Parts: sequence; C-alpha cells; structure tokens
Amino acid sequence: MVVGKPLFSAEEIQKKVQELAEQINSDYRGAELVAVGILKGAFMFFSDLVKHIKIPLTIDFIVASSYIKTDTTGEVKIYYDLREDITNKDVLLVEDIIDTGITMNFLRERLLSRAPRSLRICALLDKKERRVVDVPIDYKGFEIPNEYVVGYGLDYDDQYRNLPYIAVFKKKV
Ligand code: 5GP
Repeated sequence: MVVGKPLFSAEEIQKKVQELAEQINSDYRGAELVAVGILKGAFMFFSDLVKHIKIPLTIDFIVASSYIKTDTTGEVKIYYDLREDITNKDVLLVEDIIDTGITMNFLRERLLSRAPRSLRICALLDKKERRVVDVPIDYKGFEIPNEYVVGYGLDYDDQYRNLPYIAVFKKKV
C-alpha cells in the first residue's frame, strides 16, 4: 500500500478550516458552544478549527471507532465518552470524515438523548457515495470520491495521521 499524491494540500485544508470557522462564528454569535472532537481521526482538524473560533467555548472528546484497517465493521464502539453535561447546551460535533454515516448517526442519537439545546455537525470530508444512513452535515469541508484517504488525522492501521495533507491510499500495482 502506498500514499498517493495529495488530494488536498496543507494550504487548501487550512483555507477550508478557516472558512468553516468563520461560518461557525457567524452562526453562533452570542452563544456559548461545546465543541466535541471525535477521536482519533478528528484530532488535527479539531485543534485547527477551534483556534479560529472566536465565541466562548469549552471542548470535550469522544473516542469512537468502527473501522478495522480500511473496512467499516458497522458496529460503533465508544472507548471514551463526554465528561461534560451537555443538557441545554449548544453542541458542535466535529468529525474528520463521514462515510457510511453509521458512526455519526450513532453518536448524534446518543448525544440527542442527553437533551442539548442544539446539536450540529461539522465534518471536514464527506464521502457521499458511500452513505448508508442519512446524517445532516451543517458544516462541510470537502466532498470526496469513494477512495480511502489518509493524512491530517486520518489513518491506515493507526499510521499516517501526522501527514499535514490528505492523500489517497492505494494498493501498490
Ligand atoms: P462511517 O461510520 O461514516 O462509515 O465512518 C466514519 C469513520 O470511518 C471515520 O471517522 C473514519 O475513522 C473512518 N473512515 C471512513 N472513511 C475513511 C477513509 O477514507 N480513510 C480513513 N482513514 N478513515 C475512514
């Protein structure tokens, strides 16, 4: 397996992250936000995004996984849950990529059952073609084709998360 040419360069990603943060700043003006990063994949996107958020915010994390190597298991496991009580709070769930939608749908339902005032979703990448469960994405970075990607937090077998760009991961021919 090899890492192909960058699909999105570090510069393109940073520009998009800034645009998303500006939209969030404008939509949540006057509010207080609980930003929730979904780990591990969203760690880089999440930390870049919150640097540009200007409204008062607290941060929390969920560690969840449904993938083994390049395949989804269809079953979402939670390894670490929120510490904050989100009842009556405005919650922004921040995810690296939405693929089948199973993970985000599961997390969304789980958090909605805790009665937040609002819950929105921000995802850097959307692999729309693969969607099995429909999830509303309020803030979307890029739509991508049905390819497995790595870098900028995204892994293959826990590697390549540190790349500052996003690239397609290909089987060697
Ligand atoms: P879903 O539940 O929407 O099918 O998958 C969401 C999770 O699958 C993401 O948080 C991510 O961990 C993983 N995933 C889906 N597609 C890709 C991909 O192309 N590359 C990587 N590295 N992870 C992916």
